[in-house]
Amino acid sequence: AREARLIDGRQAASRLRAAIAAEVAQLGRDHGAVPGLAVVLVGADPASEVYVRAKGRAMREAGMESHEHRLPADTAQETLLALIDRLNADDRVHGILVQLPLPAQIDTQAVIQAISPDKDVDGFHVLNVGRLALGQQAFVPCTPRGCLMLLRQVLGDLTGKEAVVIGRSDIVGKPMAQLLLGQNCTVTLAHSRTRDLPAVCRRADILVAAVGRPEMVRADWIKPGATVIDVGINRIERDGTSRLTGDVDFAAARGIAGAITPVPGGVGPMTIACLLQNTLDAFRISRRRAAPC
Ligand code: NDP
Repeated sequence: AREARLIDGRQAASRLRAAIAAEVAQLGRDHGAVPGLAVVLVGADPASEVYVRAKGRAMREAGMESHEHRLPADTAQETLLALIDRLNADDRVHGILVQLPLPAQIDTQAVIQAISPDKDVDGFHVLNVGRLALGQQAFVPCTPRGCLMLLRQVLGDLTGKEAVVIGRSDIVGKPMAQLLLGQNCTVTLAHSRTRDLPAVCRRADILVAAVGRPEMVRADWIKPGATVIDVGINRIERDGTSRLTGDVDFAAARGIAGAITPVPGGVGPMTIACLLQNTLDAFRISRRRAAPC
């Protein structure tokens, strides 16, 4: 049997980052202006630390400014909201990202909704969620935006495709479904209460798995030739070593799918590249220039 084409997210992300860096350099030459992202980290969650460092590095590599704000784990909500207010008013800050999860004493929604919608590069503000639902220009969460870029790269026009998204989180599943609908797919949004998930998945020309359960999607859930996007990042112990795996049984799925993303090296790198893209879009909005989304 033929093996599925590997969708190389690292390569796609590095191309996108290079294009962004070139545009940032041009902006610097033409206007002497630099796009800036403020990243706010409350507490010292080790996974969050890793993400924040990676985001800062990617920003600097693209020639953008990264303003990192680290607050202690016992920070009061008013303190964090006051910082958001200052960042909303700061002309050097075009995008604001509050690293989640936040400690229990802080109301996460209150913080997200306090971010100016024009600086909401995570796309979590209700205004951006609503704009996406209405098919208007909006900041789109980075992970689903990256998934769509990969799908467009592999398939071109998505019109009429059967798309199944597993997982209905606000961060991945729901916006992914909206984006696919916007591309004229016939979209099914599956979740933990879906009946006969394998049968639902077998309809999919495009299958996006965003669940958080290692290798849940078996090879016989996949329609032959389907394009499979594996968003899951799960750390598992196998043969005494710890490694990352996705939500799809990759080794078996490769013999059935037409194209598939590996984990790691698929969706993950695109997420950070899309954060850079969203920050550049925010910069363009701040200069009242149209930002293509
Ligand atoms: P959430 O935990 O917020 O959502 C998981 C979703 O999966 C829920 O909608 C849940 O359904 C559904 N689900 C759980 N169990 C099942 C099941 N047995 N059958 C069908 N559906 C099920 O996760 P996220 O969306 O935040 O993340 C999903 C995965 O993607 C995680 O592994 C995460 O680490 C990864 N991720 C990767 C990123 C990247 O850059 N590559 C970025 C963000 C996340 P219900 O709503 O009914 O409970």
